[in-house]
Amino acid sequence: MSLKNFIRFSNAWTVLLFLSTLLIAGGIAVHSIDTAFAAAADFGPSNPFYAPSALPFQAPPFDRIKDEDYQPAIEAGMAQQQAEIQAIANNPDAPTFDNTIVAIEKSGQLFTRVMETFEGVTGANTNDTLQKVRSIEAPKLAAHADFIFLNTKLFARVAAIYKQRDNLKLDPESLRLLKYDYDQFVHAGANLSDADKAQLKKLNEEVSTLSNTFTTKLLDATKKGAYVTNDKAALAGLSDARIASAAQAAQARKGEGYVIPLQNTTQQPDLVSLSNRATRQAIFENSWNRTEHGDDNDTRDTVARLAQLRAQKAKLLGFPSFAAWQLEDQMAKTPAAALQFMDAIVPAATAKAASEAKDNQAVIDAQKGGFQLQPWDWNFYAEQVRKARYDLDDAEVKPYFEVYNVLENGVFYAANQLYGLTFKERHDFPVYQPDMRVFEVFDVNGKHLALFYCDYFKRDNKNGGAWMANFVDQSHLLGTQPVVYNVANFQKPIAGEPALISFTDVITMFHEFGHALHGMFADTEYPALSGTSTARDFVEFPSQFNEHWASDPGVFAHYAKHYKTGAPMPAELAAKIKKSATFNKGYDMTELLAAAELDMQWHGLPASAPLQNPDVFEKQALDKTHLNVSYVPPRYRSTYFAHIWGGNGYSAGYYAYLWTQMLADDAYQWFVDNGGLTRANGDRFRQMVISRGNTQDLAKMYEAWRGAPPNTKAMLKYRGLEEPPAK
Ligand SMILES: [Zn+2]
Repeated sequence: MSLKNFIRFSNAWTVLLFLSTLLIAGGIAVHSIDTAFAAAADFGPSNPFYAPSALPFQAPPFDRIKDEDYQPAIEAGMAQQQAEIQAIANNPDAPTFDNTIVAIEKSGQLFTRVMETFEGVTGANTNDTLQKVRSIEAPKLAAHADFIFLNTKLFARVAAIYKQRDNLKLDPESLRLLKYDYDQFVHAGANLSDADKAQLKKLNEEVSTLSNTFTTKLLDATKKGAYVTNDKAALAGLSDARIASAAQAAQARKGEGYVIPLQNTTQQPDLVSLSNRATRQAIFENSWNRTEHGDDNDTRDTVARLAQLRAQKAKLLGFPSFAAWQLEDQMAKTPAAALQFMDAIVPAATAKAASEAKDNQAVIDAQKGGFQLQPWDWNFYAEQVRKARYDLDDAEVKPYFEVYNVLENGVFYAANQLYGLTFKERHDFPVYQPDMRVFEVFDVNGKHLALFYCDYFKRDNKNGGAWMANFVDQSHLLGTQPVVYNVANFQKPIAGEPALISFTDVITMFHEFGHALHGMFADTEYPALSGTSTARDFVEFPSQFNEHWASDPGVFAHYAKHYKTGAPMPAELAAKIKKSATFNKGYDMTELLAAAELDMQWHGLPASAPLQNPDVFEKQALDKTHLNVSYVPPRYRSTYFAHIWGGNGYSAGYYAYLWTQMLADDAYQWFVDNGGLTRANGDRFRQMVISRGNTQDLAKMYEAWRGAPPNTKAMLKYRGLEEPPAK
């Protein structure tokens, strides 16, 4: 299942966990090569990864796996796959679909087996030993990918088969796999002349070095951009606990007073509560200017050069821009389609933001503030508007959301009503940490469908955020059924107390379970096309779609019950939750659009464009797209936009977050228009979309199911952006 894996590494991390590219890159940079890990032990039958797990469904044998088992298994896995790939490339027989394309799919099973478990454990339950293995293996994993994609003999075979594709009488999924493999090679430059290949290698190296430079500078700039004060009064408005943690942060830096570290976004969380306007402005400006001080951490030259190099790389590969190269295999297909989509929602988003700005200004004026709303004021006053209008108190809501009740009577219930799934807890599967629970998932006919693991509580050795991935991928070719897991960071209750979560956490559970369904319903021959192994601008669609069921009246009433009394949530409280879903959506949408447009404008530059001045370029890009809104700065500024410069993960891909929201809302609207939560609707969606992985053209697949291309109507409606506001 080779070719999939290299997408996989980024998928399991970047796609499902917002910031992971940065985490991985940061991890490599921080831990680096100075670690001397014990020499790899011999790899033999005593290693738990040596053979497929003997547990039912090939579930990972966590009770047998020791930390020191990973490294030898990873290295043996790479060696084994390289031997397999060599054998395919050097096969004296003429290339056929079976002896080449299918053989590639069958290769690397040991490697996949150990890596999927390793990724799962290092993401959610790591330790120093595992982190060392991760940093030692990172460059080897990159070289392993090169070994396959730069293998000219292998590519020659794939290309020969691709050329005859019309005469091979392949079924549609096999044809799709052939095209997918061929495109991956070509995308990586396999078709270039030797001279151009050398040039590409040089460009890739410079891009990779500059990308690391960017990450290193940004980490340091963000650290140095922390707000530091000795004046407790400057922190007025923060809770005592928050002030104490600011004092602790100062001590950790061996300083006095208080330190408020910067988060990676433009806006900083404490601006919601800081009542001292000068402090708010200072923190905001630290954030906004973090990488533009003209010192060693200034990234302006770095990003300008990166944009230029990427444009040159795209030109070499035959594309007018880097964005055109990146979007070729995406659902949107062209930068023009992504730009058109964004342009269409800008007016509604900025109009709503303008109306929210008026509301915020009204509070300032009522309090005789005597100033014009600035970005550093936004969250402080928006919070007051929120309290006045929505008055939603988390403490009042949480008793209705006990985490496992939400899981079984909400998340599982929706899956039962829509798809007929049933769930039974299994205590006989080993886990990597006792908080983890395991459920067997049964299909409509009572047959085993999948295993589902969940690991919901925060730990110090777990990455932040929430994500889903597979321990085992579904594939008919390999005879494997899905083993998937969800991870989150909910507050763990003290022993004997129920775990009560916020409605935001409830949405997170539905979201991650949407990914889980995408993995569990996978019904494909080839592992490379299975489940969530799909385009970046599609993969968040099933998860965002599944979020809708959290608020669906039939589902909500089934799970939103008081943990002590079992009483349903009072209608008035439920209505407040619903109403608050549209709060601040103009701002949220506008800052995302601004960042996504910056990304697309930078990566739309042709190779012939001169080196840009980032400040000038940014202003022009925002002006041009009508997103230069004084009180709504982009979610990330060009010079600290780690998603697009810190790795390849989201370059020319940040629009995907908005694009998949469009799909999710449009799809949910179809359900609403066709009777909502019914088995007929669920089965049809499963059959035509969610079980298909990447086996079909994604735009055509969607349109066949929906009966029309996706549109932005529902997306605007659910955010309260439907019409320009009245006042
Ligand atoms: Zn997601």
